[in-house]
Amino acid sequence: MGDVIEPAPSGRSKCRGCQRKIDKGELRYGEAVPNAFGAGDALHWYHPRCGAERRSEPFAAALEAHEGDVPERAELAELAAVGVAHPRWCRLARAERAPSGRARCQHCRDLIEKDALRIALERVEDGMTNPAGFVHVRCAGSYAGSTVGLLERLRRSSSGPKSTFTPDDWDAIAQELDAPITESPAGDGDDTDGDDTDDDESAPARDTD
Ligand SMILES: [Zn+2]
Ligand SMILES: [Zn+2]
Repeated sequence: MGDVIEPAPSGRSKCRGCQRKIDKGELRYGEAVPNAFGAGDALHWYHPRCGAERRSEPFAAALEAHEGDVPERAELAELAAVGVAHPRWCRLARAERAPSGRARCQHCRDLIEKDALRIALERVEDGMTNPAGFVHVRCAGSYAGSTVGLLERLRRSSSGPKSTFTPDDWDAIAQELDAPITESPAGDGDDTDGDDTDDDESAPARDTD
């Protein structure tokens, strides 16, 4: 079984990118991953845009192989190309306020102050979506190399019923995302394979719900 792009036959699947449900009949992207509970593969579902942003490389291949109609195909392909060029951009999952001052920013390495705006990172490995620390919102561009589509992504993943963000907060997030992209600080190296959380034992795996 390979990856699929298909209309959702029911409204029961949930997107692993934005955590929202995928409506019946809406197009969805299924990434085939090794089944943790037995033989064969399982499918992880995403909205097309969420798949393009969070699983750029496999999504780009699936989109290219898919012959059916895909709304906004060119835009999705462009988004996926950003993630192929900047793998860390795919890890930017959702915006939140730091509930404590204990986690370090994966870009600038400073502690992220309590109540500061931050972005939670997630990494997908072997079919598992794992928390991978945090960055200041203002550090997101420098960390990831791109902020293309990011405000819209964060609005999708971070404005659910549990969110307490006000319109002013979103203005602040938009402004911080506009921070200039700088080179990585010394010591961060030029790793692109995601080997950058090992020294981050001070960061709780996930301290919010
Ligand atoms: Zn989604
Ligand atoms: Zn930072």
